[in-house]
Amino acid sequence: MPSGTIIKALSGFYYVKSEAGIVRCRGRGVFRKQNISPLVGDYVEYSAEKDSEGYITAISERKNELIRPPIANVDQAILVFSAKDPDLHTTLLDRFLVVIESKKIKPILVVTKMDLLTPKEKEMIDEYISVYRSIGYKTIPLSSKTGMGLEQIKSIFDGKVSVFAGQSGVGKSTLINALRPDLQLKTSTISKHLGRGKHTTRHVELLEISKGLVADTPGFSAIDFFGMEPTELSFYFPEIRDQMSGCKFRNCLHVSEPKCAVKEAVETEQIQAFRYQHYLMFLKEIQERKQRY
Ligand code: GDP
Ligand code: ZN
Repeated sequence: MPSGTIIKALSGFYYVKSEAGIVRCRGRGVFRKQNISPLVGDYVEYSAEKDSEGYITAISERKNELIRPPIANVDQAILVFSAKDPDLHTTLLDRFLVVIESKKIKPILVVTKMDLLTPKEKEMIDEYISVYRSIGYKTIPLSSKTGMGLEQIKSIFDGKVSVFAGQSGVGKSTLINALRPDLQLKTSTISKHLGRGKHTTRHVELLEISKGLVADTPGFSAIDFFGMEPTELSFYFPEIRDQMSGCKFRNCLHVSEPKCAVKEAVETEQIQAFRYQHYLMFLKEIQERKQRY
């Protein structure tokens, strides 16, 4: 049975990318058998009736599933922030990282618009970049304008399903355009496509970039901590997760408990103070939310 990945769903058809190319399929067989709807990103088996049309017969078990945009089996999130215009906002950056980590998706950081920085500003941004790298996050500074970093980012897509995330105006569409100039979509067009409007119907599509698949709409537009437990939060800060086995109390929240290895690591600057501050801020938010509901 041939198999492949659904890269587009439109008007009752699923477009499956397989060794045979892109095959247009219906989903009827699978509705009867597995009673689930196929999603973009699903790895499926299909039966081809003719050369170019078929129907899906089986859906492989999903590794994960995003709701907005609806897409299955996401391997990594390309978290895009601009070095300037808008300024790098580390509270927002850490918030995105926590949400992405909580979904068991690997984050990759991209810092755009590096060409806009003065030498002095660049020093500061470079410092942040080295902090995030030291935590273990792959971080790629780039400029879609000068082409800096574009070769490096191309290599991260291979064999993976990726989604872009990040606030508007940071240069996501410009970057997609730089990576796939053949799409010849105007930035404004893609911007609309990458739309944030709640009421616009969005057809997610996986684009081929290098040897990988990339969603053409940003994921994680909702970045609240819905459903998260206070004790979970430590796990989504890798450098806190690394230290917490040294805390005296097993359920330590690293706030005011005695003999807390995390607080000690903040004092010795093994953990960056600003990251710890964000941890405390998010913890408070999660605790307050819990009290309200
Ligand atoms: P999106 O909302 O994240 O998709 O952002 P856009 O791709 O629409 O970019 C927002 C603005 O930033 C546009 O005016 C782009 O021309 C500009 N921009 C994007 N990337 C870069 C870059 O690397 N350097 C500079 N100087 N401007 C950029
Ligand atoms: Zn602790």
